[in-house]
Amino acid sequence: MVTGIWEEFLKIVKDEVGSRVVETWFKAVTLHQWDSLENTVYLKAPNAFVKNWLLSNYMPLMQLHLGRLFNVDKPKIVLCEQTHADDTRCESKTDEFVPAVISQRVAKKVLKTGIVPFSFGGQRGHVNRSYSFNTFVVGPSNSLAYAAAHAITEKPGRLYNPLFIYGGSGLGKTHLLHSIGNSIRMAHAKANVLYQPTDRFVNEFINAIRFDKVHKFHAKYKDVDVLLIDDIQFLSNKEQTQEAFFHIFNTMHESSKQIVFSSDTPPQEIKGLAERLRSRLAWGLVADIQQPALETKIAILKKKAEQSNEELTDDVAEFVASRVISNIRELEGALIRVMAFASLTKQPVSYDLAQKVLATAKEQSPQEATLEGVVKCVRKHYAYKVDELRSKSRNKDLSFARQVAMFLMKKVCHKSLRDIGDYFGGRDHSTVKHAIHKVTWHAEKNPGFKQKLRTMEQEAVY
Ligand code: ADP
Ligand code: MG
Repeated sequence: MVTGIWEEFLKIVKDEVGSRVVETWFKAVTLHQWDSLENTVYLKAPNAFVKNWLLSNYMPLMQLHLGRLFNVDKPKIVLCEQTHADDTRCESKTDEFVPAVISQRVAKKVLKTGIVPFSFGGQRGHVNRSYSFNTFVVGPSNSLAYAAAHAITEKPGRLYNPLFIYGGSGLGKTHLLHSIGNSIRMAHAKANVLYQPTDRFVNEFINAIRFDKVHKFHAKYKDVDVLLIDDIQFLSNKEQTQEAFFHIFNTMHESSKQIVFSSDTPPQEIKGLAERLRSRLAWGLVADIQQPALETKIAILKKKAEQSNEELTDDVAEFVASRVISNIRELEGALIRVMAFASLTKQPVSYDLAQKVLATAKEQSPQEATLEGVVKCVRKHYAYKVDELRSKSRNKDLSFARQVAMFLMKKVCHKSLRDIGDYFGGRDHSTVKHAIHKVTWHAEKNPGFKQKLRTMEQEAVY
């Protein structure tokens, strides 16, 4: 009866606190038993470290969502620590929770990496000191964004203003924004640097209106010398906030104060944005961050390990890097799990250990499919040759098959729209985007087609 509930729980938690928390803490936990008479959920954690961490940090979250899923109010959560099959130690907490007894050494080690969710809910609005240019690994996927970010710190407001950095989730945008802030602060101790996530900006503005403090709101931004706005896409459809921001932007820009934006898409793709604001976002330099290649992922892992005085051998680094496909945040999560486990069990970080710790992750993350692999499997279902699919022909059925291929490529290959367009004879990324929308739309209307898509997806991945 409990099958599926844990998966459902992971999805909810992911939405609520992000995939890093799920990857680091919840992925390795299993739902052991649900005792409806005792109103108790039994969970199994892989070790004491994870168990204690969950008990002291995520108890309310577990109670809330597992309670909802089991349809009860505040279930008791019992966490068992599984060391060997027959050696299971349990501990439970209901209402009150006591700080966890985490081995000092482990906690220190994990803390030192500066990459653990210790900062969750932490100091928003302030520049995070552990994110600096020194800890940022540069590779082909992020070199443009890095170079631009670095350059503006030498002449804030004079070189690229605004600087607009975009890229997928977990690829280092926030890290770069904080690095800019830290670096400018270092050179100009008096500079008023403000790091502001967009959702916070929106809330601040809404509250200013509610409590009649719009003046104060604008006054705050008048004093800012360097404004780092994270995830500007969240301004979408917030017309009044956009209006307010538009004025802040103009004032700052006129007086050559540096503004930096991050976003998950380029300015022209952010929906629900006033045209005059959109055009301003692209006034300076627009730099992208792509998914890192294997070599960069390895370099990042080595750097992170080094920061916590751990040495990572080549085989371990390569194993972990190849295990996590695209997102650096998840890459870190995997490394933290390996290091925490090694430290806790007093073993060196070895290939075998990494393999053991990440075993569950393997089952859940399918291999990366290639563009060729996708085309081959589309070909099987639509009876077109690879060359035809890659040709310029606009025959209606052929075009649709091509669009299906584009859709699947985006879904399973972790390539950019640009890469996919290039594969199909240099088509524009907007063509690929259109294809994805169209196929998504068809799948929603037509369950049979949706099933077919799923089959093709499976075939392409395995
Ligand atoms: P985004 O804001 O793009 O979603 P973040 O900046 O939060 O991503 O990065 C996620 C995690 O990955 C952070 O802990 C960050 O330090 C790390 N990270 C991302 N890119 C790099 C990099 N090039 N070198 C080192 N760490 C990185
Ligand atoms: Mg971010």
